[in-house]
Amino acid sequence: MNGRMMKRIDRLTTQHSLPESEYVELIEGRDDESARLLAERASVLRRAIYGDTVFTRGLIEISSICRNDCLYCGIRRGNAHADRYRLSREDILACAAEGYALGFRTFVLQGGEDPFFTDDVLCGIVSALKARHPDCAVTLSMGERSRDSYRALRHAGADRYLLRHETADPGHYARLHPKEMSFEHRMRCLQDLRELGYQVGCGFMVGSPFQTPQTLAKDLKFIEVFQPDMCGIGPFIPHHDTPFRDEPAGTLEETLFLLSVIRLIHPPVLLPATTALGTIDPQGREKGILAGANVVMPNLSPMEVRSKYALYDNKICTDDESAQCRQCLDRRMRGIGCRLVVDRGDIRHP
Ligand code: SAH
Repeated sequence: MNGRMMKRIDRLTTQHSLPESEYVELIEGRDDESARLLAERASVLRRAIYGDTVFTRGLIEISSICRNDCLYCGIRRGNAHADRYRLSREDILACAAEGYALGFRTFVLQGGEDPFFTDDVLCGIVSALKARHPDCAVTLSMGERSRDSYRALRHAGADRYLLRHETADPGHYARLHPKEMSFEHRMRCLQDLRELGYQVGCGFMVGSPFQTPQTLAKDLKFIEVFQPDMCGIGPFIPHHDTPFRDEPAGTLEETLFLLSVIRLIHPPVLLPATTALGTIDPQGREKGILAGANVVMPNLSPMEVRSKYALYDNKICTDDESAQCRQCLDRRMRGIGCRLVVDRGDIRHP
């Protein structure tokens, strides 16, 4: 690591900001030593704000039916081989009840953009969840919807919304998505969600096709300016039935490096060590926490559907019961000196 890298890392630690050109240089200058220093600094910050606690969210994958055709995603409309399912309202409420008993106080409903989940249907599910579990936060991750729809869902009780921006570079966005999807609309959705009072999550895949240090620098600048409550990043992993089947996966090292950088840019951010990170390395999630992440999102979906929510190949935890996932993560977190807590896990502004 040269002196310039050191200076940039120091500046990021004290000012939580770099010019975009220096984010490029930081990314290009990554080596083991700079990664180690960033992880140390990020862990200090995580500990100062969140102590030894790691928040957990119960992820319920409610539908693998999707009207979109994102080039990277295994459940894209154009994948005729995808095995499609949709959970019923009763299935979803049953998963949440099971999760509640296991100590989850946040539920994330994620799915493809399935037309079945109209505002009426989804609002009904959200309000039933909030009525049954008033001490829980409900997070939605159901893609792009209209501002009116987001407003109705917010009124029904949704607290948080995850919508990865995917890339902050419009040209890059266009290479990852079909013509009918737009960068401007995705960004509009994030602004709408923020204005409607949601806690908002953005994020991107590490190592997605056509990603460069320049596009990543834009992602980091966007995070710096937008100050999301949550930020989901994980490695891109190819799915065999997509146009990106032969593209290389994102790496563990780059993902960990970026997790640390994001913690330094926005210290209180809720930053998950994702399932995709656990998929490319057996200790990926532990390493993610040690690099600065503070959230894990085990799967609460019913066993019968787990393998069908296949965004990418070789996804982990498709054969485990919810209780097993919870215990396994408990053990993994204790192994690195952290503990999973029974808590809604709201952002803590220092
Ligand atoms: N339909 C919702 C949920 C999408 S799935 C939405 O549009 O927000 C959640 C995230 O999984 C996506 O935002 C994407 O960043 C990630 N993802 C999709 N395909 C992936 C792949 N092949 N490898 C890694 N992550 C992927």
